[in-house]
Amino acid sequence: MGAVGFTTSIPVEVLLAAGKRPVDLNNAFISAPEAHTFVREAERGGFPSTCCAWMRGIYGVLPTLDIDEVIAVVRGDCSQTQALMEVLQMEGTPVYPFAYPYDRSPQAIGLEIGKLREHFGVRVEEVEEAKGKLDRIRRKLNRLDVLTWRDGLVSGGENHRFLVASSDMKGDPWAFEREVDAFLEEVRQRAPHPGGEEIRLGYLGVPPIWQDFYEKVERPGVRIVFNEIQRQFSMPYLAPSVEEQYLRFTYPYEVFFRLEDIQRESVRRGLDGFIHYAQTFCFRQIEDKILRHHLSKPVLTLEGDRPEPLDARTETRVEAFLEMLHRDRRTSAATGDGN
Ligand code: SF4
Repeated sequence: MGAVGFTTSIPVEVLLAAGKRPVDLNNAFISAPEAHTFVREAERGGFPSTCCAWMRGIYGVLPTLDIDEVIAVVRGDCSQTQALMEVLQMEGTPVYPFAYPYDRSPQAIGLEIGKLREHFGVRVEEVEEAKGKLDRIRRKLNRLDVLTWRDGLVSGGENHRFLVASSDMKGDPWAFEREVDAFLEEVRQRAPHPGGEEIRLGYLGVPPIWQDFYEKVERPGVRIVFNEIQRQFSMPYLAPSVEEQYLRFTYPYEVFFRLEDIQRESVRRGLDGFIHYAQTFCFRQIEDKILRHHLSKPVLTLEGDRPEPLDARTETRVEAFLEMLHRDRRTSAATGDGN
């Protein structure tokens, strides 16, 4: 089965209908034990050190993968992807450009998915059939997410690992489904969450490049119960069609559309505050200003650069933020203000 890499979530149903193995290049990069060396290799290969480490990592990991073709998302993901695509083309990697429409128009997304279908030679019905099969796995991931925020049985780190992997279902959806099933079975055996007071955090932005982020932030009394973009990768909407699904996917569209989802989930999950992750050299850092302006709960913005453990300065900022949230909680309890 030929493998097709992609630079962010694309209508993976088309690849499965075509009998291709989907590979999210971000996951391939960050899950490799030697992720940091891919970044350095890209620099040695001529990538500037002022270009995002995810870009450099994707470029660095590619030669280690057996990939037939790369789908580059040239609109709706990253301002740097076009240049990456051009470098890959120059070096002989077949590249296909995919563009999410800025205006979220059903016609435009239909056209893009139609072109992708034609490129891989599959029919609408085959793609919808693949969606039906994936929806079965997505329902299980939805359950895993509810077990995180409502039942307190799944940690934010576990939630992150499963949802972030759902963009390519680890290249083999049916093996991934078995992994999800085994995890849900294990969770069923866990002791019920003890309840009591806790700080409930939302994680916003692209997945963290730090390898120990969740281990460093979560602890008794502090849990991450919302992973914004990772949850988006899991396509939790169970939409009636592939087109509709990729219109509801908030990540590639304007930040105000993401905000609607964040605010809805913030209320539903009873969040006390947010950690907004901003990647060094990422254009999305500018959107921090908009998120801060619109969110009513405290926001801690953290910036990460390379795949490495969380640095001491960032850890100190996390500690200070958590202390502030605990203090606010104690003050609210003393004054009877539940907000
Ligand atoms: S973190 Fe930002 S700059 Fe880096 S690949 Fe993602 S969107 Fe692009």
